[in-house]
This record gives sequence, C-alpha cells and structure tokens, in this order.
Amino acid sequence: MQPTVLLLGPPGSGKGTQAARLAGDRGFRQLATGDLLREARANGTELGRRAAEYMDRGELVPDDVILAMVCDAIARAGDEPIVLDGFPRSLPQAGALADALSQQERDLTAAILIDVPDNVVADRIMGRGEGRSDDNPETVRERLRVYHDETEPLVDYYDDRGLLRRVDGAQDPDAVYQEVRSAAA
Ligand code: ADP
Repeated sequence: MQPTVLLLGPPGSGKGTQAARLAGDRGFRQLATGDLLREARANGTELGRRAAEYMDRGELVPDDVILAMVCDAIARAGDEPIVLDGFPRSLPQAGALADALSQQERDLTAAILIDVPDNVVADRIMGRGEGRSDDNPETVRERLRVYHDETEPLVDYYDDRGLLRRVDGAQDPDAVYQEVRSAAA
C-alpha cells in the first residue's frame, strides 16, 4: 500500500513548499485544499463562490464543501502516494478523513507537524507578497487564531495514535525537507 501522509502546521509554515517537494522528489500526489478552493474561485464555480467569503475572513470553509472535494480527490488518486496539505483542519475533519481513507482501503502513514512560532509565520506571510486576498494583517491574525483553536488539537489526536512526527519548520527549506522526507518514508 502506498503512503498517505498529511502535513500539519500554521499558515505560512511551509506546508505547500514541502508538499511540492515530496511530489517532485518522491512522486506523491499533492492534495492542497487551499489550492483546490482558489482554483474553484478562479473558475467561478458555485463551490468557489461559497468558499470565497469564508476564506477572505480567515475562517474555515464549511465541512460539506471541503469533504466532497477531498473525498473525490482521494478516490481519483487511485493507488498513488498522497500528501495532504491543509486538510484536516479540525477534529471533525480528521474523523471524516479516517472514514474516507478506510473506504479507499488506505491507512494514514504519518502526520507531520511543521512547527513554527506565530511571530515567524506572520512575518513570512506578510513578506511573501503573493497577492492573496487573505494575506492582510487582520485575516492573518484570524487564520492563526483558527489554527490554534481548531487545528492544533490534531497534534494530540495524531500523537495518541502514534502517527505524529515533529519537524522544526524554522530551519531553511532544504533542512526542513530532509526531516519531512524521512518522516514520510
Ligand atoms: P494557509 O495554510 O496559509 O492558511 P491555505 O491555502 O491552506 O492557506 O488555506 C486558505 C484558506 O482556505 C483557509 O483560511 C480556509 O478559509 C480555507 N481552507 C483551506 N483548507 C480548508 C479546510 N480543510 N477546511 C476549511 N477551510 C479550509
């Protein structure tokens, strides 16, 4: 069975960068909910329109929207290795992921936490200048709040299941990747 890993960490911790490296270097299929949502917005789909207002406030998009998207993407991955980036983001989403994976007869291999302090990620996001509509100081503060309230409980959830791997995300991207790659193997 091919590995299924997920990346946990605050906004701006480098999940997207590291997921892309696993894709390029190890042939993982990258499944990034933020990218899928931005794509849906750009295409002006109903799903994209519904998601936009939540994204611009820094809030979580409702689970029904996210789950339909993720289940479909996991099914389409067939037996390729998968790296999830930006999902799950809450305990209910983690439960839904467990169900979706068991339906596809897949097991989660590792939950990799890319650990970076709040002051570092806030500076990174404001400095990266990607022009995202949610990269303004107010929304970044809200995204960090949502991370600590909704997403951080997943650290204990996966630790309890023996799946958590911690990586120091304040290092340079190459050093972070060395740790991510061994955790994903
Ligand atoms: P970041 O990790 O930098 O916040 P993402 O691209 O992962 O960036 O997510 C951007 C926004 O998309 C989030 O603030 C949220 O509104 C929405 N989003 C992404 N993934 C999820 C998810 N799993 N559940 C709910 N909303 C999500």
